[in-house]
Amino acid sequence: MPATRARLLVMNAALGPLDYRVPEGMLIQHGSVVVAPLGPRQVTGIIWEEEKLPTSPVPESKLRPLLAIVDVPPIRAELRRLIEWTADYYIAPLASVARMVISSGGALRGPATMIEYRLSGGMPERMTPQRERAIAALEGEQATIRELSGLAGVSEAVLRGLVNQGVLEPVEVDIDRPYTGARHDYDEPELSEQQTEVSARLVEAVAAEKFAPILLDGVTGSGKTETYFEAVAQALKGDRQVLVLLPEIALTEAFLSRFEARFGAAPITWHSSLKSTERRRAWRAIASGEAQVVVGARSALFLPYANLGLIVVDEAHEISFKQEDGVRYNARDVAVMRGHFESIPVVLASATPALESLHMADSGTYEKLVLPARYGGAQLPDIQLVNLNDEQPGRGSWIAPPLRRALEDRLERGEQSLLFLNRRGYAPLTLCRNCGFRFQCPNCSAWLVEHRLSKRLACHHCGHETAPPEKCPECGEPDCLVACGPGVERIADEVAEILPDARVALVTSDTLNSPERAAEFVAMAEAKAIDVIVGTQLVTKGFHFPELTLVGVIDADLGLEGGDLRAAERTYQQVAQVAGRAGRGAKPGEVLIQTRHPEAPVIAALEAGDRDAFYEAETDARRHAGAPPFGRWAAIIVSSEDDAEARMAANRIGDTRPRLDDVMILGPAPAPLSLLRNRYRYRLLLNARRSAQLQQVIRDWLSRVDHPPGVRVGVDIDPYSFV
Ligand code: ADP
Ligand code: ZN
Repeated sequence: MPATRARLLVMNAALGPLDYRVPEGMLIQHGSVVVAPLGPRQVTGIIWEEEKLPTSPVPESKLRPLLAIVDVPPIRAELRRLIEWTADYYIAPLASVARMVISSGGALRGPATMIEYRLSGGMPERMTPQRERAIAALEGEQATIRELSGLAGVSEAVLRGLVNQGVLEPVEVDIDRPYTGARHDYDEPELSEQQTEVSARLVEAVAAEKFAPILLDGVTGSGKTETYFEAVAQALKGDRQVLVLLPEIALTEAFLSRFEARFGAAPITWHSSLKSTERRRAWRAIASGEAQVVVGARSALFLPYANLGLIVVDEAHEISFKQEDGVRYNARDVAVMRGHFESIPVVLASATPALESLHMADSGTYEKLVLPARYGGAQLPDIQLVNLNDEQPGRGSWIAPPLRRALEDRLERGEQSLLFLNRRGYAPLTLCRNCGFRFQCPNCSAWLVEHRLSKRLACHHCGHETAPPEKCPECGEPDCLVACGPGVERIADEVAEILPDARVALVTSDTLNSPERAAEFVAMAEAKAIDVIVGTQLVTKGFHFPELTLVGVIDADLGLEGGDLRAAERTYQQVAQVAGRAGRGAKPGEVLIQTRHPEAPVIAALEAGDRDAFYEAETDARRHAGAPPFGRWAAIIVSSEDDAEARMAANRIGDTRPRLDDVMILGPAPAPLSLLRNRYRYRLLLNARRSAQLQQVIRDWLSRVDHPPGVRVGVDIDPYSFV
């Protein structure tokens, strides 16, 4: 018998579940996406199991009828369970999680077309240099006006002129046109013996169609990608979909070309800067099962795959898998849960796995597959410390003599170097020489970072920007501003001074801000048109430049500052990853690490190349501190635009704290970043034993406290950022 009433999870976090009447003739099932009336408006919702979504009963006579079923496949039970798990674990509203599934409004509208333009073969009445350029550049192209304008390097107005003249003609295209298919046997590589062994196991796991969490632990350059591609091939053979999560969009370009070379077609990409038409096309192809392989940022994890057969999380240790606003989830961990609900293997690939992941492998919860050597006989680089206490760089300089000599040496030999400093901009702090005034963000408790290339002072937290003033805003003295400390721009300047003939490339999210720029950089580095690369964490992973033989770490101590619980681990990972860029080809690599603390355990482990020693020391420290994986952390962040209001709310929460043996509660205290985007922030930290029902404790606790509407209370389970 068809259902007559239905419970709806509506896409609005402020509302609870709502019941509706199912009009006669409407055939719904659990997971159907529907449109329902809400007051004078309409809402989208997902039909849910009533027993999973309790609410107070509404009499039959009060129910309003559903309006329509949206023409997309129902959200499958496996994904509904993942939505529930995520909301429960991260203490987030179900609707907020579900919105990450229904993440393209456009996809819910029926079939659609769009207009593209191409050359008609006609000529304009009046030729101008711009028009001439456009016509020459657009031969064989078909795209929207905006895209054509980018391709031809002329303004959209010029192209509209050509449309009016009939030189460009409109073509109606189906937005959901099919993607080119990937072929599992397009160009099969010859794997090394080690790679063959590991890939055979991965292929077997995909064929088994069962849950299998696997840690693929392979040194940099061991061919992890090549190896898991065989698992992708197996999924393609079996007509199952594959999701590959990457930490950084800047990395996708190199990945796409590699993928295309192996499988004969590019995968589908998913990230926040997709155009809405691309987003819709991808979403619908994923939901229908047409999409074979999706490569994306963490948000791709929640898409409604019809037939998922494998998830790969590449560079799985990366902290960008942790979302820091909205639903604060860790895509690496949720990926494993998705694998559990879908009954498929999940591969976490890394050369420097998170301690948590290694622990899971060592305790037998995850299977561990190891690639211990670089592919093709390339050696891991030689690592040396430069003790900055002995080898001091000159005044206003950050490159110590040994690193300087190594750079000169590489330039002479025609080899490439890479300098790493994880700080964007020119200088992290600007002050007045006369009165000591420091430039601070008006919205955040943070210094403004000077960006000399783009001539601005910028806040890296809220995006506030201002032009550097001619005189000090405090004392009025002209030309008195001094830059303190280095950012990558300043290091690039120093390289240009030391090596005036070197071709220097600056690689940060400011310069490599689009797939095109990323592709351009890779092409130039491969063509040896770059001698020295100076970059932030963006250059630490993914890139493979065979001629790069020197890596210099400008300041290995930088990451150890601040109260971050994973500071040592992160420093280890960053330096090991960037070191992994050296000597990937035939020539051996050398790594110089500048530090003031050569005795720090993490620095000593890096020098010795002793990964196990580092992980053992770090494991002991974590066990001792009751930190993950031995205990658990959670943060409660209370904020308001009004400082007193935020403080009072935090105190009210603090005053009602539960007294428990297995949960220690610290705070409230002002957060280290006590003002962020104009909101004052206070923080409580919870450290719990593994046995504690942490989420239940927090939920019960917070539900007892009421706040004025201006107060926001956020919960961060397994936090990465402690600011
Ligand atoms: P990782 O991800 O472990 O750092 P990659 O997969 O990027 O390593 O491999 C390093 C380099 O070695 C890449 O240029 C890759 O194309 C090459 N490579 C690895 N395995 C093979 C193979 N079996 N055949 C040919 N080239 C390979
Ligand atoms: Zn700011």
